[in-house]
Amino acid sequence: MGKIATPPLNDSTNGWNRILPPRRPHPSLQADILVDWVVVGAGQAGLAAARRLAENRPGDRIALVEAGEAGDGAQGRNAGFIIDTPHNIGSSLEALATARDYITLARAAIQSLEEQVRKHNIQCDWEAIGKLHTAVTPRGISQILAPTRKTLEALNEPYTWFEGDSLHQRIGFKHFSAGIHTPGAILVNPAALSRGLADNLPPNVTVYENTPVTTATLSPEIRLATPHGSIRAGKAILAVSVFAEQFGILRNRLIPISACASLSRQLSKEEQEKLAGLPSWGLTPANSFVGVTVRRTRDQRILIRQNMRYQPQLRREESSYNAVRLHHQDLFDRWFPALKGVTIEHTWSGFICISRNSGAGFGEVTPNVYSSVCDNGLGWTKGTISGLLIADKATGIDNPLITTYEALGRAAGLPPRPFRDIGIRARFSWELWRNRHEA
Ligand SMILES: Cc1cc2nc3c(=O)[nH]c(=O)nc-3n(C[C@H](O)[C@H](O)[C@H](O)COP(=O)(O)OP(=O)(O)OC[C@H]3O[C@@H](n4cnc5c(N)ncnc54)[C@H](O)[C@@H]3O)c2cc1C
Repeated sequence: MGKIATPPLNDSTNGWNRILPPRRPHPSLQADILVDWVVVGAGQAGLAAARRLAENRPGDRIALVEAGEAGDGAQGRNAGFIIDTPHNIGSSLEALATARDYITLARAAIQSLEEQVRKHNIQCDWEAIGKLHTAVTPRGISQILAPTRKTLEALNEPYTWFEGDSLHQRIGFKHFSAGIHTPGAILVNPAALSRGLADNLPPNVTVYENTPVTTATLSPEIRLATPHGSIRAGKAILAVSVFAEQFGILRNRLIPISACASLSRQLSKEEQEKLAGLPSWGLTPANSFVGVTVRRTRDQRILIRQNMRYQPQLRREESSYNAVRLHHQDLFDRWFPALKGVTIEHTWSGFICISRNSGAGFGEVTPNVYSSVCDNGLGWTKGTISGLLIADKATGIDNPLITTYEALGRAAGLPPRPFRDIGIRARFSWELWRNRHEA
């Protein structure tokens, strides 16, 4: 029996959640239950897996168990980009084939999410306005944007190149010097979308929120303990992201990274007029570790996402947010001098699960137990499609996209700690130093 030593501990800082109306969570588990399937984790992967399982097996009983509340894990703490083209693509034939596979999978995920948003009228500020991939320096332009442009051309993907004034006029500020706009990305309030997906699952899924799994036995029988009840299940899907190792799976393969984001207060009508450019936009940085993701949201706030850290202890202290907030306020004041007096209202952090080779933790990990983790920071597309496909795989549905997903690779092994920590920290420092111009 495996004890979960460090279950998720979500604080109440998530700005996307705090700007939404209060929501009543599904009741926590208060009994001992027997189900056909248990899905652990209500992130993008778990929500998609539970939904597809229910569609594939309408007569089965499915429990979806979440330690916190829907929309308050990483699924609701991200920057809200649903991205259909890979960020930085190599130019080899193999890299192009991988990019094509990614695009196919990402668009299948977007189609599935859009269907849910329309069907259930989920109010999540869904905006099909594309996104800009931006660079600050000539080096960022020549090393990242120019090759990305070439690759988009090779893939026959539409894009528009913006540079200097043409970029500044779109976004209303001058920090970035060039950007590639790709039209297929969607921008959302991620907490609103996650809540909406969790609240509109098929009737044979029972959602238990505020129900952390505290001990897990996966073999020979699946038995999970939670604070006020237990679950016995025929089969399980573990969609627990960076917490997977604690369930005894994917040991020494996953790299937990924490990232911070902030939202400003809402701009007044007068402030909106002062901020030139389009009424809403989103941009991702050439280097996602060093650079800054920025959005002008549909409800007229500025989002800043930055400050990534290797966090093997799976906790980021709330006390560290103040320094991040001050830094984000400083960036805001420098970039938007016309908006003097507009304050950063919310700062929070969340976990991203990456691997050394960008591979995933997808498949059957032990008889009757499947995992859908490690989307390498692309939760909305890779996480969603991974959840849908793991449910198909577990129920024996012959979906050709399973092979496409598996071709993206399996999370590679890492050395044991403390060698892993030393190696990752050294690599991180090198990346930060090498790309410091893009900060
Ligand atoms: C600041 C930030 C910005 C980001 N920006 C973007 C972006 O713009 N676009 C994008 O696509 N991705 C983005 N990401 C990444 C994205 O949020 C993640 O990749 C995605 O949420 C991972 O989905 P998941 O379902 O695998 O895991 P999660 O969303 O982390 O869900 C896993 C769930 O499992 C639950 N869980 C874990 N252990 C237990 C347990 N013992 N018992 C019960 N439940 C448990 C957790 O509470 C959690 O809710 C960003 C992430 C951060 C932090």
